[in-house]
Amino acid sequence: MTTKSLDPTDWDAFRGQAHRMLDDMIDYLAQIRERPVWQPIPDTVREQLRAPLPVPPSSLEDAHNTFMHAILPYSVGNAHPGFMGWVHGGGTPVGMLAEMLAGGLNANLGGRDQMPIEVERQVLQWVRELFGFPDSASGIFVTGTSMANLISLLVARTATLGEDVRQNGIDAAGRKLVAYASEAAHSCISKAMDFCGLGTDALRRIPLDAQQRLDTQRLRRAIGEDRARGLVPFYLVGTAGTVDTGAIDDLETLADIARQEKLWFHVDGAFGALGVLAPSLAPRFKGIERADSIAFDFHKWGQVPYDAGFILIRDGEQHRRTFTTPAAYLSRESQGLAAGSPWPCDFGPDLSRGFRALKAWFTLKVYGTRQLGEMIANTCDLARYLAERVENEPKLELLAPVSLNVVCFRYRGEDMDNLNRALAVALQESGVAAPSTTTLNGRIAIRAAIVNHRTNTGDIDNLLEATLALGAKLTQFSDTETTHDC
Ligand SMILES: *Cc1c(COP(=O)(O)O)cnc(C)c1O
Repeated sequence: MTTKSLDPTDWDAFRGQAHRMLDDMIDYLAQIRERPVWQPIPDTVREQLRAPLPVPPSSLEDAHNTFMHAILPYSVGNAHPGFMGWVHGGGTPVGMLAEMLAGGLNANLGGRDQMPIEVERQVLQWVRELFGFPDSASGIFVTGTSMANLISLLVARTATLGEDVRQNGIDAAGRKLVAYASEAAHSCISKAMDFCGLGTDALRRIPLDAQQRLDTQRLRRAIGEDRARGLVPFYLVGTAGTVDTGAIDDLETLADIARQEKLWFHVDGAFGALGVLAPSLAPRFKGIERADSIAFDFHKWGQVPYDAGFILIRDGEQHRRTFTTPAAYLSRESQGLAAGSPWPCDFGPDLSRGFRALKAWFTLKVYGTRQLGEMIANTCDLARYLAERVENEPKLELLAPVSLNVVCFRYRGEDMDNLNRALAVALQESGVAAPSTTTLNGRIAIRAAIVNHRTNTGDIDNLLEATLALGAKLTQFSDTETTHDC
């Protein structure tokens, strides 16, 4: 009998190859310090991957070899302790194994009566507990905070205009909705305004105060002005950990304003919100427990492998009514596989969904919140250490107060913007450390976000030494600076 199945014909040989693949990844993580953080991709390597659509089969071993030689060495490097660019989590060996288990199970978490959904509900329960939300609050895993913010905005829109908006569209209500976030809020909020059909102009970007937080006085004024113009203020975003500097908006005052003005209060806590796991940081997030919704990522500070965003909504019923859609092929029963309603697909745009919950469940279960909290607090200690060292170096200048785990600084010299852009590239190409850049008050800053649980003081020292050495080199040959411009 011939088989058309995609399973191996020789399971023992497959098992041997599978164990080699697992060993390779364990070696990769165990020996990651010996590698460069990142390295430029040679053209020959890019070329190696180019191939016509494969028609005949080829061996798993060959594909794995290509992975080991052409793919693994040229990833972004966020698992490496020297990676400090943007805000990327480092992942963990436990998370990696959970991904493998989830891949083997191949569960679809759109719905139906299955334990994997109970796992997601358990994580939701832990998330409620973490942020002091009631049992009636709802939540699901999504790709990331970009999607979580969009879901929150859609629920708030429906709550404000009524469920008819789903059928009639936003124009039918004849009311022009406006939303508020700080100038340092993430660009995905404005993208979400676009996706909702409200338009990016309907997002008011409120200036920052001296601590890089949303200026609440100016917020009150902006709301008043919009009301006077006949517009309908409906949505207020507080950021708990801005991407630029890690600043935490005054969530308590924002919650007060939202209550007085009857606005939906959303917290974008993409990377910062899990700071509540650290007892030393938790008080700084006061007010988050009063939010109508919280978006955050397990894949940043939580170190869960990509991707694992989460949206938590206080009014679970409003959440469901924003997304639930009848369809004959999705009808529910009280028994059998079609039981267990409501399903995750009733709370977001996705029908088919992977088992993201498992890697978050494993991470919380195996490491525990105490250890995760200590790891998070440690990244903030490292950021303070880096800031102190920057302040003690005459060649360096700190460009923003260090609120959490993000340090913005620059190397002094002529044409500082181009110099520091080139310096960030030179650092990345050195393989020693990989910070990124941002613009603060019109000035280019080198930005080190300490997110990775593997980073230690030695890595901070390496970043400092490489910065000073490369900075000296670049200022010495300042006419070559712009060759690195991109
Ligand atoms: C990273 C980040 C986002 C976007 O989250 P993704 O998971 O990348 O979609 C939004 N807001 C803030 C504050 C962030 O740090």
